Amino acid sequence: MSTRKKVHAFVRVRPSDDFAHDMIRFGSDNKTIDIHLKKDTRRGVVNNQQTDWSFKLDGVLHDASQELVYDTVAKAVVAQALDGYNGTIMCYGQTGAGKTYTMTGTTENYRHRGILPRALQQVFRMIEERPSHAITVRVSYLEIYNESLFDLLSTLPYVGPAATPVAISENPQGVFIKGLSVHLTSQEEDAFSLLFEGETNRIIASHTMNKNSSRSHCIFTIYVEAHSRTLSDEKYITSKINLVDLAGSERLGKSGSEGRVLKEATYINKSLSFLEQAIIALGDQRRDHIPFRQCKLTHALKDSLGGNCNLVLVANVYGEAAQLDETLSSLRFASRMKLVTTEPAVNEKYDAERMVKNLEKELALLKQELAIHDSLANRAHVSYDPMDEVQIAEIHSQVRRYLDGTLEDIDVINLRQIQEVFNQFRVVLTQQEQEVESSLRRKYTLIDKNDFAAISAVQKAGLMDADGHLVGETDGQGFGLGVASYSSKPGKKPKSRRMWKEQFSASATARKEGGSSPMSGKDVEASTSKTQLAPLSKDVDVKDMVLRDRETSNIDTLPPDSPKEDLRPPRPVTPPSKAVAFEDFKNERGSEINRIFKENKSILNERRKRASEATQRVNAIKREMDEAREALSAQKAVRERQGEYEKKGLIIIDEEEFLLILKLKDLKKQYRAEYQDLRDLRAEIQYCEHLVDQCRHRLLTEFEIWYNESFFIPEDMQAALKSGSSIRPGMVPVSRIVSLGEDDQDKFSQLQQDVLPEGPESISFYNAKAKREQKHSYLKSTMGLPRAQRR
Ligand code: ADP
Ligand code: MG
Repeated sequence: MSTRKKVHAFVRVRPSDDFAHDMIRFGSDNKTIDIHLKKDTRRGVVNNQQTDWSFKLDGVLHDASQELVYDTVAKAVVAQALDGYNGTIMCYGQTGAGKTYTMTGTTENYRHRGILPRALQQVFRMIEERPSHAITVRVSYLEIYNESLFDLLSTLPYVGPAATPVAISENPQGVFIKGLSVHLTSQEEDAFSLLFEGETNRIIASHTMNKNSSRSHCIFTIYVEAHSRTLSDEKYITSKINLVDLAGSERLGKSGSEGRVLKEATYINKSLSFLEQAIIALGDQRRDHIPFRQCKLTHALKDSLGGNCNLVLVANVYGEAAQLDETLSSLRFASRMKLVTTEPAVNEKYDAERMVKNLEKELALLKQELAIHDSLANRAHVSYDPMDEVQIAEIHSQVRRYLDGTLEDIDVINLRQIQEVFNQFRVVLTQQEQEVESSLRRKYTLIDKNDFAAISAVQKAGLMDADGHLVGETDGQGFGLGVASYSSKPGKKPKSRRMWKEQFSASATARKEGGSSPMSGKDVEASTSKTQLAPLSKDVDVKDMVLRDRETSNIDTLPPDSPKEDLRPPRPVTPPSKAVAFEDFKNERGSEINRIFKENKSILNERRKRASEATQRVNAIKREMDEAREALSAQKAVRERQGEYEKKGLIIIDEEEFLLILKLKDLKKQYRAEYQDLRDLRAEIQYCEHLVDQCRHRLLTEFEIWYNESFFIPEDMQAALKSGSSIRPGMVPVSRIVSLGEDDQDKFSQLQQDVLPEGPESISFYNAKAKREQKHSYLKSTMGLPRAQRR
C-alpha cells in the first residue's frame, strides 16, 4: 500500500571564500536558510521592496562532503528503487552553482565522486546482499539540448543528432526513449566505465557541436529488474533511478544574451518552467491532466517525476552576494517543489511464462488430489478434462430424452457435466422455440393481437368472425373443432417425435398466455359460456348423453375392442403431432363424441340466438307498454281538464281511452308470457353450456387416452394392462408406464387387478407407490446391493 509523500527538497551551497555572511544565514536545525537583501539604493527613497526571506527545506547542505550529500539526498531513494519504487534526483540551479559537481562529482578524485557513481555502487552492493533475487542492472545516459535528444552512450561514434534518431515514445508499459542505448551492466566497474564514457562524450559533443555543456539537461538512468529466485513467485519488480543534472537556471537577459545563447536560454527557461508546472500538477490530486508533453525533459521523465515515484530536488546555490538573485530564485523553486506530494508505488509485474508454468503445476497437483478423493469415494473413471464433441452430443441426447420423459434422471457426475447439462437445456430450448415459431409460420399467418388494423382487415375479408376467431381456427379450447387445414390432416406428413414435443411445448406456452391446450382439463372447466352458437336439433340426445355420463363413472365410452380400433393401421415409428392426431381422432374413434359435442354446441348456439330474439321482443313490448301508459295518462289529463262525467259514482271515459286500457292489458299479458319464455331459455342456455363443457372435456380426455395408447404405450404392455380390468393404460402418464422395469410391470398389472377395483380414484395413490418402489429398486441397483438386504 502506498501513502502520499512530499517531494524532498534540499539546498546545497557551493563553498566560497567570498561567502555573503551578512546576507545568508543558516538555521540551527540545518533546514532553514534565511536571506537578507540590502536595500537597493538605486530605487530611491520610497522602497517597498521585500528584503527578508526565510526558506524551510528538508535539509541545508552547507560545507557538506560528497558522502554526506549522498547519504542525505540519494541513499533512501536508491534503496527503495531496489524494492520497486522509481526514483528521481534532480539538481537545479544556476550555472557554476555545483550541479554537475553534486551529480557526477570530479572524476579525478574518488572522494569527490558524486551521486551517480555512489548510486551505482549502492545498487551493486545491495544486489550482493540479496542472493534471493536475480537482479539485473542497465544504464542509459540521455542529453537534452535545445529540445533535441542525444544518446551519450551511443555505441556509434558520436557524430551529432542526425545520426542518432532518438525520440520519446509511449506504450502501455510507460514512456521510453526510442533509439537510446540501454546497457546491461553486470558489475560496478562496467557501470563506471559507461558513466565515464558518457561524461567524455558530453565534453566532446560540447566541442564538436559548439554547445555549452551547462546548457543541456543530462539524465543518467539506472534500470533495475528484480526476479525472485524462487520459481514459484511469478511476480517481479522493475524500477528506474533517474539522476538528472539540469541545465543552468539563470534567467535570460542578465548578460544581454543574443543569438545561440538566447535560443539556449529560451529553451532552458521553458523546459524548467514546464518541469515546475508538471511537478505542481502532479501534486494536485484534482488535476487529471499533467502537461508532460510540453517539453522533452518532462516527457522523458513522465513516469519518474511525480505520481508514483520518490522525487528529490537539490537546489544548488552560490553563497556570494552577486548571485543572490539567482540564489533566491532557486530557493523559491525548491520551496515550491517541497509542497508537492507524490504517491510512491511499487512497479510490480508478472512473468507470464512463469505464471503459466506455476498454474500448470498447480493444476496437475489438484488433478492428483481429485483422483485420490474419487478413489476414496469409489468414484472411479471420472474425467475432469474439458468435454469433447461426442460427450457434449451425449449430454444433448440425455437432455432431449429427459424432456421427452424417456429418461428419468440425469446423473450428476461433476461440475463440468452439470454446466454442460444446463447449457444443453438452453440449446434445446432455443431450438424448440425457433422450430415452433417457424412451423407455426409455415402453417398460419400470424397476426399481432394488438394490431387492430390487421385484425379488422382480416375480419372484413371474412377470415375472422366477430368474436375474433379465425374461420377454421381452433376454437381456443382444443385443436380444430372448426375446419382443419388440409395439410394438417393425418397421414399427410408423418411428424417426428421431436415435432410432437415441440407442439406440446407450444401448447404449454399458449396455455401460459391465456390460451389452453387439449391436455388441460382444468382449462376446459374454466372456460364457460364463450363458445359460438348454432341451430338446435335433438334435445333428447343431449340429455341422454348427460344421463349416461352421470351413471358411468369410469370412462368406457369407447370400448377397447371396438371395431374401429381393430382397423387402425400399424403404429408409426414416430407419433404424429397432437394437432394432426386430434383430427384423426375426431374422424375415427372420437367421431361419436365429437358429433355429440358439435350438436351440443349448435343447440347452445341456437338457444342463445333465440334468447337474444326473445330479449328483443320483450324490450319491444316494454316500449309499447310505456307508450300506451303515456298516452293513457295524457288522455286522463285532458279528461280532468275538461271536467269529468260522473254517473252513479262511476267515471265515464271515452272510447279512445278505453281502447288504450285494453291494449295495455294485452301488452302486459304478452310481456309476462315472453318474459317467462326468456327465463326458460336462459336456464336452458346455462344447462347447455354445462353440457358443451362436459363434452369437450370428455373429448379431450378420450383423445389423450387414445393418443397415449396409440403411440406411446408399448402394445404388449397395453395388453397386460387391459386384461380384465377397468383401468385403461392411457389414464396413467406415459412416462410412468414406459419407464417401468419388467418386474415393475408385473407388479403393476398385479396391482391393478388386485386393487384398482376400488375405483379409478386410487390410481394416483398406486402410481405414487409404484414410483417409490421403482426408485427404490433403482437405488438398490446403483448401490450394487442385493435386493433382499434392502427389504
Ligand atoms: P554547474 O554544473 O552547476 O554549472 P559545476 O558543478 O560545474 O556547476 O561547478 C562549477 C565549479 O565549482 C566546478 O569547478 C566544481 O568543481 C566547483 N564546485 C561546485 N560545487 C562544489 C563543492 N560543493 N565543493 C567543491 N567544489 C565545488
Ligand atoms: Mg554543470
